[in-house]
Amino acid sequence: MGLRERRFGVLTGDGIGPEIVPVAIAIADAAAGLESIEIDWQELPFGSSAIASHGDPVPAQTLSALDELGFWIVGPHDSAAYPPGHGDRTPGATIRTRYELFANLRPARGFTGVPALRPDIDVLIVRENTEGFYADRNMAAGSGEFMPTPDVALAVGLITRAASERIARVACAAAIERAGTDRQPRLTIVHKANVLRMTTGLFRDACRDVAAEFPEVEVSEQHVDAMAALLVRRPADFDVLVTENLFGDVLSDLAGELAGSLGIAGSVNSSESRVMAQATHGAAPDIAGRGIANPVAMIVSVAMGFRRYGLMTDDAALVAAGARIDAAVADTLAHTATRDLGGGAGTAEFGDAVVRRIAEA
Ligand code: ATP
Repeated sequence: MGLRERRFGVLTGDGIGPEIVPVAIAIADAAAGLESIEIDWQELPFGSSAIASHGDPVPAQTLSALDELGFWIVGPHDSAAYPPGHGDRTPGATIRTRYELFANLRPARGFTGVPALRPDIDVLIVRENTEGFYADRNMAAGSGEFMPTPDVALAVGLITRAASERIARVACAAAIERAGTDRQPRLTIVHKANVLRMTTGLFRDACRDVAAEFPEVEVSEQHVDAMAALLVRRPADFDVLVTENLFGDVLSDLAGELAGSLGIAGSVNSSESRVMAQATHGAAPDIAGRGIANPVAMIVSVAMGFRRYGLMTDDAALVAAGARIDAAVADTLAHTATRDLGGGAGTAEFGDAVVRRIAEA
């Protein structure tokens, strides 16, 4: 059977991006090849190297190329290290906003062989990705963060019913999908409506209203601070968590670390028609350039992205390629560990082991 071509984008990014992204691509190619898919990866300027070459971390040519694409991989960006003048918005915000990538799906679960503070954690954090308390993306022009004087700083939070309902629908669908046929879907709405009454109160109410359309979903609610404590104390009580942007970011780092390491925490950002694979972690400048970063988060983000984009585009082979990647990563983690997991494998060495595993399967 001949190979079928799909064109996807690559935005390598900063810090450990140039180490983990090529590893994830090699693995994606190996898995896709076994499903008779040949991927034409379109490498696009992004991050600090794009500032050097194009004067912009997200140049216009990158955006016009992404306009034509449905799936891409993005490495981490280290926008805190960019020279002044590059940004009211982080590159992530620019891309998420332009393509309405409103749903950030961040699973956290343990792997056999990976020591974890809470090996019993198995949750999916569904994070609203276009508004909330991430003020940089809340304005049509300018930023929702501003300083009237050098000693006074303000930030504008934004919650809308439409965006809250939209993310609640994704969360309910995810709870139903994860439950399968053998258990009841569970959803926890995470808010802080005892203090942020109007904003997170609206988020909570919109989620409640949508969840009422899914009577099979068992719905509970938690304040975000209590949620943080409960994720540590009894994570097995929770399955899908839906929350606003900033709460979701913080909780997903916590959940990832409880499951073993931020280095294994994958995630996708999605609209109705586009998927962007992006690890939960950041650019990790403290370990960049040393070949020791854990590539698993990037790899499993691609696997998740293949599944989600494959389902969106009716491409069963792409879904199957994602499953091949997941299985090979789980097998590899059972006996090979990078430094963050207490082992000695380097980034490339781990990636090679996954590619071998895919070929053997
Ligand atoms: P951002 O705000 O961009 O998400 P951050 O401030 O949350 O970034 P990270 O860059 O995610 O910070 O790094 C947090 C810690 O986790 C650092 O000590 C970093 O070295 C570690 N870390 C992050 N990613 C990895 C990885 N893939 N492998 C190993 N360690 C990692």
